[in-house]
Amino acid sequence: MYYDYHVHSHFSADCEAQMKDIVENAIKFGLKEVCFTDHIDYDYCDPSINFDIDLDEYTDHIELMRDRYGDRIKILKGVEVGFQPHIVEKCDNLVKSGDFDFAIASMHTCNKQGLYNRDYFKGKTAREAYLKYFEEILYCVKNFKNFSVIGHLNILARYNDDAARENLIDYFDVLEVIFKELIERNKGIEINTSSLRYSNTLLLSPDVLKFYHELGGKIITLGSDTHVPNTLAHEFDYIYGILREIGFEYITTFEKLQPKFAKI
Ligand SMILES: [Zn+2]
Ligand SMILES: [Zn+2]
Repeated sequence: MYYDYHVHSHFSADCEAQMKDIVENAIKFGLKEVCFTDHIDYDYCDPSINFDIDLDEYTDHIELMRDRYGDRIKILKGVEVGFQPHIVEKCDNLVKSGDFDFAIASMHTCNKQGLYNRDYFKGKTAREAYLKYFEEILYCVKNFKNFSVIGHLNILARYNDDAARENLIDYFDVLEVIFKELIERNKGIEINTSSLRYSNTLLLSPDVLKFYHELGGKIITLGSDTHVPNTLAHEFDYIYGILREIGFEYITTFEKLQPKFAKI
C-alpha cells in the first residue's frame, strides 16, 4: 500500500500537471492515498517566479477531486512551504489558517540565497555550507510550530558536487540535535525519492535513517516529489525494503495535521 505525500500539480509555479491526471494515475497505480503539496515560497530569492497559491481555488479543486474520485482513493490537502528563518511567523500563520492535512517545511534557499541557482554555495566550503544549512533547519524545527515533516533533508547534495561528496556521518552531532528536537515536537522527516530519478542516490542514506530510528524517530513520510503523473510513488517498494531492514514497521500519513501510522 502506497501513500505519496509529496505531489505537485498545476497549482505550483513550476508544474503543469493537472490534478485530475495525477489522481487518475494514482488510482491506476493502486495508491491508497495521494497528498497534494503544492509550493508556497514567500520572499523567494528569484522574484521572477511567484510560488504562491490562490488557496480558495486550491481547496475547491481538491474538493472537486474528492467528489469525483474519493470512493477510489483518499486525497489529502497539503502544502510544501519554503521555509526561511525570517518568515517563520508567516509560514506558521499560513499552515494554521489554511486548513491543511499536511505541511512539508522545505528549504529552497539558505542564508536568503538560492540553492537551485547555486548562489548559496559561492565562497563556501562544503562543510560551511552544511553547517549553515543545518543551523537554519534547526531554527525551523524549534520555531515553526505547525509543520509536519522536514522536506528533502540534505537537498544540498542535489545542487553541489562538493556537497554531494560529503558524508552525513560527519554531521551526526548536529543531526542528533535536529532529530531529537523533531521527535520531541512530534514531527518527522520525509524520504524524497526524486533524487533516485535525478542522480540515482538517496538524500538520506540508510545510515542516517538508522540513526533517526535509534534515536526514537517514528514519523517518516514518503514522497515522490513528482511534477508529472507517471512518477508517482517512484521506487516506494525499494524504500519500504530499506525501512523494514532498519526496523521501521510503519509509514506515516496525516490528516488535519495529525500523524497516523500505516503498517508497511
Ligand atoms: Zn522542494
Ligand atoms: Zn516539492
